[in-house]
Amino acid sequence: MRHDEVPVLIVGGSLVGLSMSLFLAQQGVAHLVVERHPGTAIHPRAAFLMQRTVELFRGVGIEKEVLAAAQREFVQNGAIVAVDSLSGRELQYFFRNINDGVEQLSASPRIFVTQIGLEPVLRERAAALGARLRYSAEVVSLEAGEDGVTALVRDRTSGEESTVRARYAVAADGAHSPVRRQLGIGMLGHGTFSDSITIYFRADVRPLLGERNLSVVYVVSPRLQGFFRFSFDGQSGFLVVNSALDDAGERTTTIGATATDANCIRYVREALGAPDIPVEIEDVQRWGAAAEWAERLRVGRVLLAGDAAHVMPPTGGYGGNTGVHDAHNLAWKLAYVLDGRAGEDLLDTYEAERLPVARMTVEQAYTRYVTRLDPGLGTDGLDPLIDDPPIDLGYRYRSASFTPEDPDDGSQWEDPHSPSGRPGFRGPHVTVRRNGTQLSTLDLVGRDSVLFTGAAGGGWAQAGASAAERLGVRLDVYRVGDRGDIEDPGGAFAKAYGVGPDGAVLLRPDGFVAWRATGSTTGSTTGSTTDHGGALGGALARSLCRPQP
Ligand SMILES: Cc1cc2nc3c(=O)[nH]c(=O)nc-3n(C[C@H](O)[C@H](O)[C@H](O)COP(=O)(O)OP(=O)(O)OC[C@H]3O[C@@H](n4cnc5c(N)ncnc54)[C@H](O)[C@@H]3O)c2cc1C
Repeated sequence: MRHDEVPVLIVGGSLVGLSMSLFLAQQGVAHLVVERHPGTAIHPRAAFLMQRTVELFRGVGIEKEVLAAAQREFVQNGAIVAVDSLSGRELQYFFRNINDGVEQLSASPRIFVTQIGLEPVLRERAAALGARLRYSAEVVSLEAGEDGVTALVRDRTSGEESTVRARYAVAADGAHSPVRRQLGIGMLGHGTFSDSITIYFRADVRPLLGERNLSVVYVVSPRLQGFFRFSFDGQSGFLVVNSALDDAGERTTTIGATATDANCIRYVREALGAPDIPVEIEDVQRWGAAAEWAERLRVGRVLLAGDAAHVMPPTGGYGGNTGVHDAHNLAWKLAYVLDGRAGEDLLDTYEAERLPVARMTVEQAYTRYVTRLDPGLGTDGLDPLIDDPPIDLGYRYRSASFTPEDPDDGSQWEDPHSPSGRPGFRGPHVTVRRNGTQLSTLDLVGRDSVLFTGAAGGGWAQAGASAAERLGVRLDVYRVGDRGDIEDPGGAFAKAYGVGPDGAVLLRPDGFVAWRATGSTTGSTTGSTTDHGGALGGALARSLCRPQP
């Protein structure tokens, strides 16, 4: 029997498995992706990519390709609207243009690109960076021990079986995650509340769309609740149906069980508000609308990511984005633990950081589902609505990797329009200049930790260099401000990161603030100290879960 040895095995090679592969490849970690399907996505599914996701793809050098794929598929910057039917009344605009008011939050825009358009870009770059991807192959079983995992893999074409031994496995095997079930990890949350369908159809909707550029169209009528997305040319699209009236005129959420072609044509016509329009059904996918998260994201050497870790209704468009963020959080940690630059405990911070974000995001998707599509589920006890920018860019991590600042106000998120720069939050995007070229502060973060010091932060720079040397890790150090490596003419950096000229801020390889010394000129002296080496050395070690020096 063929046998492979590899540091990381990724089970599932869809959006999250491929993102995981790409981020690991960028970190130089050898790995194998095993995917049951013969290739990348054949259904569009996720399309709304939020800024953090595009920012992460920018970080691995594929933003241009992703934007080009997006432009091939959709007119960008569309609106998100609720209607009673496409040709009927507009009930509410959630966005007039999905990028309105968020341009300054990131160097990357929100975009629309389907998994059909996106996944080949991820796969190509991952493969170019050395990823091994095995398609039409299935992980049949996974045994996890103290030192590693052993997977039995079956080739779905030849039936041939082989084994793979890995030091860690990432389960990116989707909502029904066989790996999660095998590990006996339960789910928490609201469970499944609709037997939904996605109807892929052809119909000429151009006369109904008119001049409108609509990215997502929620349909909320007494007869049907769901949403549309249309193709670039307005001649095809999909309709999700979460609930509708049945033959007896009763509202039902059991749509999948009765999704005949005739019913699907009826749903599409009703939602378009065009009873006689010619409609051709291309495909129908049945799926359960659910809102839940896994009890745990790590059991020994197996870690869950993406839909395997959290499932949410598509209202809001968070599911795939959250999964990509999981993958990014995990990839650098695996890289650092595998070659000893970080302590094994760093992997525990994955669950500590991502599980609260998963819970918050699932609840936000659920709140949107109930209020936009199905108030009948009950609005009591819903988490209050949070705007998209904090969900995307303002969530907070708490774990042993951060050096917290007192007092902790207990919040799980902040508005990225007014970032605090505190440890546990994503380092704010600030446009600065380096050697005459304009760039984002986050463009300076990539594979390793980064230290930004104020213009008078020479002591921090020296302390950082010697701490990094002592720990055997790389630390990129930049002096920001007057005569520094990085020009910040408007002083936006100091404001966003909350550090004065004699302050400093340490970012982890994922761009999250691990520690900061605000310096004396901001009026506050949090972290201000003369023992630069002790403070920064301790913070760098802590960020990697290494023993304190
Ligand atoms: C209609 C619709 C619209 C959506 N819109 C959005 C949106 O706009 N934005 C957004 O962020 N999200 C959206 N989502 C959610 C998004 O599609 C999912 O969150 C995302 O696809 C999850 O990716 P994943 O890789 O975790 O899981 P999946 O895509 O389910 O992939 C899991 C993969 O694992 C493979 N697999 C499973 N078991 C094995 C095994 N034993 N061996 C080998 N391979 C295995 C499967 O074949 C599959 O390819 C939408 C979902 C739907 C249904």
